[in-house]
Amino acid sequence: MQHLNVAPENHVKVLGGQGWVGLIDHLGTETTAVNAARVSFGKIKDEMDDRDITLLEYLIDNRHTSPLEHVVFTFSIHCPLFVRGQWHRHRTWSYNEISRRYTEVDMEFYTPPALRRQAENNRQASVEDESFNDEALRGMITDHNQQSFELFEKLLAQGVCREQARGVLPQNMMVTFWGTVDLSNLLHFLELRDSEHAQWEIREYAIAIKKLIKPLIPNVAKYFEKKGQIW
Ligand SMILES: Cc1cc2nc3c(=O)[nH]c(=O)nc-3n(C[C@H](O)[C@H](O)[C@H](O)COP(=O)(O)OP(=O)(O)OC[C@H]3O[C@@H](n4cnc5c(N)ncnc54)[C@H](O)[C@@H]3O)c2cc1C
Repeated sequence: MQHLNVAPENHVKVLGGQGWVGLIDHLGTETTAVNAARVSFGKIKDEMDDRDITLLEYLIDNRHTSPLEHVVFTFSIHCPLFVRGQWHRHRTWSYNEISRRYTEVDMEFYTPPALRRQAENNRQASVEDESFNDEALRGMITDHNQQSFELFEKLLAQGVCREQARGVLPQNMMVTFWGTVDLSNLLHFLELRDSEHAQWEIREYAIAIKKLIKPLIPNVAKYFEKKGQIW
């Protein structure tokens, strides 16, 4: 498994075990955010008390975002190319990714653990259907992934450069990238991507990120739980 260089308690598997997200590093705590909010008074605290929790909730409630930007997380993400495409629309993250211009080692391809049906009233949405007999179709997807990879290898063997040969690789190719984001923009990402409007695959990652960061920002998690969200 590529780049899974994080302790087991710091990564969560998703997509039926085919993808994962790991917490590589973090900077700052909830106390950092409230200290940043009070910096103009010159007061610095080491621990959160009830007034700090109230202030933290006020910051989130009122979109007073800049104190939250002093808390930063770095994740390692292993996901299909189409999830990466959606993720990288979030411009407030910093990204670095393994390049297929350099290497073809450890290539993996996603086969959905279950196929969903096209929603009739929304072209961007899908519908789960437990009666969908999808085994043969999923087998065809796996075969297609494999055939694409074989064509890629054939092109390389014939001397075609990697940067052109990779064009035949499917959207189901798994990629690994690092993403760094501050807490304010991460909360925005989680709002958009742990949503019933988001595609199931990227939603899995958003839910996994919540699990990873909840112990680090327990009062932020509680705030959203009080609003009825699952963390
Ligand atoms: C369910 C869903 C469906 C989507 N469907 C489509 C689609 O069909 N087609 C498509 O193209 N995209 C689609 N998107 C992507 C969407 O339009 C956004 O690009 C993506 O969600 C990133 O959101 P963001 O810009 O708020 O995040 P970020 O890029 O992380 O930005 C966070 C915030 O920073 C501010 N900001 C960042 N950059 C700028 C800037 N240049 N100027 C001013 N303010 C800025 C904005 O306030 C922004 O909300 C979809 C997203 C979702 C969640």
